[in-house]
Amino acid sequence: MADFPAHASPGLPPLASPGPNDHQHFRLHHDPARQDLHSQNGAAPPLVTPHITPPLTPNGEHVDIPAGAQASAKAAHDAATETSAPKLLETLPEVKCEVRARIPTTTGQEMFLHLYHNNVDNKEHLAIVFGPHIRSRSLDAPRPGETERDRMIRGAYTGTLFPGRTSSRRVQELRREAGVEPVADITSKHEGEEHEEEVKRKLGPALVRIHSECYTGETVWSARCDCGEQLDEAARLMSGLCTDPSAEEQPPHADHPSLAQPSLGGVIIYLRQEGRGIGLLSKLKAYNLQDLGADTMQANLLLRHPADARSYGLATAMLLDLGLGGDKGVRLLTNNPEKVRAVEGPGHEVSVVERVPMIPIAWRTGGKEGIKSKEVEMYISTKIEKFKHMFSE
Ligand SMILES: [Zn+2]
Repeated sequence: MADFPAHASPGLPPLASPGPNDHQHFRLHHDPARQDLHSQNGAAPPLVTPHITPPLTPNGEHVDIPAGAQASAKAAHDAATETSAPKLLETLPEVKCEVRARIPTTTGQEMFLHLYHNNVDNKEHLAIVFGPHIRSRSLDAPRPGETERDRMIRGAYTGTLFPGRTSSRRVQELRREAGVEPVADITSKHEGEEHEEEVKRKLGPALVRIHSECYTGETVWSARCDCGEQLDEAARLMSGLCTDPSAEEQPPHADHPSLAQPSLGGVIIYLRQEGRGIGLLSKLKAYNLQDLGADTMQANLLLRHPADARSYGLATAMLLDLGLGGDKGVRLLTNNPEKVRAVEGPGHEVSVVERVPMIPIAWRTGGKEGIKSKEVEMYISTKIEKFKHMFSE
């Protein structure tokens, strides 16, 4: 029972109370330190610890906490400090794409799911890549001792996999099929790759979205926030991108004219951070607070889940690894202007050449489609009023 979460109040010593399933381990735990603390107070520890500091709003004003909200005040305070402009890291984290796999989707489009490891946390952050042109450098880099089969298993191949394929490079497969000896050195440039570089030069910037995991909004159909809709909408826009520079007809993108131009493709950086340090536990408590009448600003301090400075750094590092750090820049799909500067990185490693807004579907369709709930209306209007999100260009 000693492993309390970081947001647990330091004023409340851990109690040796059993969990619902660990009654067999339960024993009365005599802790002299705790006894001292109790005797100082002359009574049982107070339910609300004096160590809790009232939470701060982004501009430093104190917030009146509704009755019952105090237990979450520390977490709310931590969240409040992150609603100000994101602090930038001095150096980017190191990221490495461990594996990529082709995922056919329910809309008929394919995407490539890239799984990353990094040197700042133990989470498996993801890059969801649309189109054939965006590739991970750390994935494609040869690794000592690996075979062609190893490379294909971790997704470091070009073209498509098929039963019996023996080389990770499509060009080598074609040479083999034509009876020409494949090139032994898999790091050397091939004619096919030079052609690919030429194609990439003709294409416009990639469309990028930075998205933080939201279990409630994406998996259990919550209408308290618009995360699920935003993820779907980002995928829809990216699936519709034209990635062929010689295509005669461009896909219609009436809602986003700039997306009608041929593009390198799309990337959703999917950060595995449910409410960041706050986590699902506090998020669910905040939902109860809302239902108890807590101010939406207060509850949103717990509910908001934009990336913090560290994860912006992760997103920038992943974009660089995907070859999106060049002069071409990226188009960033976001309503949050603060994200633009943060995603660009401490040394302007990634250049955001355009911000493409995400209009809530319910607003765009006059309420005919999209999420309908009083909670999401409140959530979105709070985003606009309090957090300066912008739904127009
Ligand atoms: Zn959400």
